[in-house]
Amino acid sequence: MLRSKDVVVGNTRLLVHDGSSSFWFENWLGGGPLANDQAAVPTLEAQISDFYNAGTLHLETLSSIIRQRHPPMISRRYIWSSHILLRISIYMWRLLNQAISLADVLEGFGFNMPSKCSFCSSCEIVDHLFSQCPLVDDVWNFFEHLLDILSVHYLDVLTLIQGYWARASTSSATGHLLSILTSIVCWEIWKARNLQFFDGVVLFAFQVCRRILAEVHAISIAIPFTHRMATDTRLFSVGVIPFLKPRVPPKVTTLNW
Ligand SMILES: [Zn+2]
Repeated sequence: MLRSKDVVVGNTRLLVHDGSSSFWFENWLGGGPLANDQAAVPTLEAQISDFYNAGTLHLETLSSIIRQRHPPMISRRYIWSSHILLRISIYMWRLLNQAISLADVLEGFGFNMPSKCSFCSSCEIVDHLFSQCPLVDDVWNFFEHLLDILSVHYLDVLTLIQGYWARASTSSATGHLLSILTSIVCWEIWKARNLQFFDGVVLFAFQVCRRILAEVHAISIAIPFTHRMATDTRLFSVGVIPFLKPRVPPKVTTLNW
């Protein structure tokens, strides 16, 4: 009987009546137990009447239980930040999803073409352009020195970006800046590359750094960074941002009793 249980259940249709039978493990719809089509059953004890009443299936309740809730991806939180322009967010999404027009990405679509970095003589692949290129290395070094953070150099750009994100936080202005800085740096590197590639205009590392700082200045004027920790004053003193918004002190209410 036990050996043939699955066959019997799969071919026996249960009548719902008061709905006190198992929602997942009884064959009440005629196509076998619903648990057979579900990788993980979210509520083992659920009865049919929990989701099905008077001929109506309550899809809203069911979907809220079935839907797996994942914490938001760290990349989604940082690249879609309200502090950066939408075009930069979209560009970062393309970069992280291998959707920018560089040789190694295009090879995946069947295109084979010669490719040379706009800044040096190496092959222009994603990891080289955003992480390994000497000019780009100087840019990252500049900001690591300016923000007094440990070197986070890696050969691939994704690990490099994640190294910055690992230092990001909402408890300080510096941490906040680190959450968006990688997007601005990559965007300006891409713009500098295109300027040279299409217009023949050569930029040096210090000029790319200046452009990045100008972008950070513009952002900090539009949406000021809040002074949260003593170390945040460094941002102001080294000229990364023009000012810090003072933190509003917590309101203290005195009760007389
Ligand atoms: Zn290069």
